[in-house]
Amino acid sequence: MNQNADLLRKLKTIVGDDYVLTDKEDLIVYECDAETLDTALPDIVVLPATTEQVRDVIVVAREYGISITPRGAGTGLSGGATTISGGISLVLSRMTKILSVDPTDSVAVVQVGATNLSVSQAALPYGLYFAPDPSSQIASTIGGNVAENAGGPHCLKYGMTTAHVLGLKFVMMDGSIVKIGGKTRDLLSLDLLGAIVGSEGTLGVATEATLRLIPRAQAVETMLAYFETVESCGQAVSDIVAEGIIPAAMEMIDNLTLNAVEDYLHMGLNREAAALLIVELDGPEIGIAVHRKICEEVVQKNRSIGLTWATDDVHRTKIWKARKVSFGALGRIRPNGYVLDGVIPRSKLAQAIKQIHEIGLKHQLIVANVYHAGDGNLHPCILYHRDNHEEVNRVVAAGREILELCVELGGTLSGEHGIGVEKMLEMPLVFNEADLLAMRWLKESFDPDELANPAKMIPTPRACGESGRPLSRHQMMSSTC
Ligand SMILES: Cc1cc2nc3c(=O)[nH]c(=O)nc-3n(C[C@H](O)[C@H](O)[C@H](O)COP(=O)(O)OP(=O)(O)OC[C@H]3O[C@@H](n4cnc5c(N)ncnc54)[C@H](O)[C@@H]3O)c2cc1C
Repeated sequence: MNQNADLLRKLKTIVGDDYVLTDKEDLIVYECDAETLDTALPDIVVLPATTEQVRDVIVVAREYGISITPRGAGTGLSGGATTISGGISLVLSRMTKILSVDPTDSVAVVQVGATNLSVSQAALPYGLYFAPDPSSQIASTIGGNVAENAGGPHCLKYGMTTAHVLGLKFVMMDGSIVKIGGKTRDLLSLDLLGAIVGSEGTLGVATEATLRLIPRAQAVETMLAYFETVESCGQAVSDIVAEGIIPAAMEMIDNLTLNAVEDYLHMGLNREAAALLIVELDGPEIGIAVHRKICEEVVQKNRSIGLTWATDDVHRTKIWKARKVSFGALGRIRPNGYVLDGVIPRSKLAQAIKQIHEIGLKHQLIVANVYHAGDGNLHPCILYHRDNHEEVNRVVAAGREILELCVELGGTLSGEHGIGVEKMLEMPLVFNEADLLAMRWLKESFDPDELANPAKMIPTPRACGESGRPLSRHQMMSSTC
């Protein structure tokens, strides 16, 4: 435990006694994020309230050679905020202020601990909103969204977080505070913003974000359709895009998930359907009726066994609730779920679904499936009991096979949840040594002492278990290091 008395005194002077936590019962709250296969206690939890406090904590951490792992709400699904090498868990959740909403320039400036949803709520009176909408938006923070380059159902049409971040206030690992970007897109200088968005806290700490807001659509139409087979549902998704329509969202859930949701919500879902598809269209009043008709025809051509359109906003919210509660509802089947995040070309959807099912059978595991189907982003969720170590081994092996499958099908490891500690060892499936070296150079130039969220994203000998910490998953998979 790195709890040097001098260090603690200095940290308390910066943020106040109440905001430095060292008792085991306090630390345990921060031992992982929503990916619970990898856990590790931080040595110290520090909760700053301002950019200057973040800077001072970083300076002190550097003085003592202790690492810093930034943390927002801890809803990450790749172990990004887990202090796998110990050190300080730097929790930004006190920094929740919406600093300004500028309806003329359609921009909001917020502290990074503000939740995703609170930004759209603040923009609502101006008819604007922040487009990236992770299903965790009620809790996940803008800092976490930026660091993970978060997506969400509506990112199919509007793009990921990176398309909506205009600027950042960012504390570098030498303690300097830099402002990158601003209220307009900077297209001239080196794209540091592009490097930082999605860097998972491995380059430094963001404290404020300038975000692009977009106008709410004039009209929205939401369809819920059922299918007898997963294949016909997948085909309908491809056919809608082939018609030249980019829906705001296209989300799919399988029969197992659908039944778990119905058990929870009792909203009258068709329990017999092999797959449920939600298609949302938005845009000007004029034109949306045409797209609605085309989508309906495509779905019917693919032998849908039931179709309904939201009649009003209340109905629409109900339909979306079915999708948004799906991971939580699966907790009724097993207490733990390992959510994967592989991406495949949309045309391979049916094949991937079949092979994922076979991987589940082979390892005698229950695998539920939720998909951002429009962009081929799969979220197979392997259900298990965390205390059953033998089962956990099978979960890890099946998870790796699913990721290998995604890569074999021409896809990649992550669509939105990031690499973190969870997929770090799979990085060589996609990147060669030269690619990884280029990433290491970037990391080293921002963080030469390797104190920013170490042992994450980029596989290195240290990340593969030389930190002296027990890395349960890494030990199991160490032969791939
Ligand atoms: C039920 C559920 C549904 C989800 N749905 C989606 C979804 O639809 N789309 C999606 O993309 N994700 C989804 N996620 C994953 C997760 O919510 C996102 O990755 C989210 O962006 C994480 O935000 P957070 O505040 O919880 O960050 P954390 O989990 O606390 O941290 C995530 C990463 O960001 C880094 N970080 C946090 N704050 C900062 C900062 N200020 N500066 C630098 N680095 C920082 C951390 O070090 C870590 O690497 C879901 C998660 C759950 C549990």
